[in-house]
Amino acid sequence: MSHPRVLAIEDEPDILTVLEYNLSREGFAVVTASNGEDGVRAASREKPDIVLLDLLLPGLDGIEVCRKLKQDAATRNIPIIMLTAKGEESDVVLGLGMGADDYVTKPFSPKELMARIRAVLRRGTPRTESDQNERLDFEGVSIDPVRHEIRLDGKPVAFTATEFRLIHTLASAPGRVFTRDHLVPRVIGHGAVVIDRNIDVHVRAIRKKLGAHREVIETVRGVGYRFHDPTHDLDK
Ligand code: CA
Repeated sequence: MSHPRVLAIEDEPDILTVLEYNLSREGFAVVTASNGEDGVRAASREKPDIVLLDLLLPGLDGIEVCRKLKQDAATRNIPIIMLTAKGEESDVVLGLGMGADDYVTKPFSPKELMARIRAVLRRGTPRTESDQNERLDFEGVSIDPVRHEIRLDGKPVAFTATEFRLIHTLASAPGRVFTRDHLVPRVIGHGAVVIDRNIDVHVRAIRKKLGAHREVIETVRGVGYRFHDPTHDLDK
């Protein structure tokens, strides 16, 4: 993917100009739309590699655009990064629930946005079954789904099955924000005795066990949790 194509759907001309300038400078091909309806049309016509979607749009708003793109088989797999204002956390949760990949809060730095875009493009398509058995190694934290084992600095540490599934889910997509609604079905085993559906309680227990490595699980206020993306530091 030498020149990934970005579709920016945004009604504020100033922001669109900044986006176009920065994206072109980084080698992206840019297509723009200034309202939701045009955005949906442009997505199915242009088949971009990624969509930047403003949530507050006149007419068809960002959440509706997200819903339409995810409903249409032709545009379903195009990753979406939402552009949001402060205080739109409940819309962010809605959008992530519909399949948007990430969000950036305005005012954002172009550097931050570029890093997010690259991270989403790098994560690419969802993992297959065999990928899910792959051991995930981070600095000092190793997660082995086959052995159901987590090692911290080489030493195995006991986690419950629920805690393991929670860490493994987050760590399979570092940098991706998971809402609590995303996590419950993935983490609470089917048919298992549900001891506690409260994800926050499990996260607290996990962090305690992670000790010095506790910062690998990041809280995204008002939205959910994500695993620290080590490559994100390098992008900055
Ligand atoms: Ca707007």
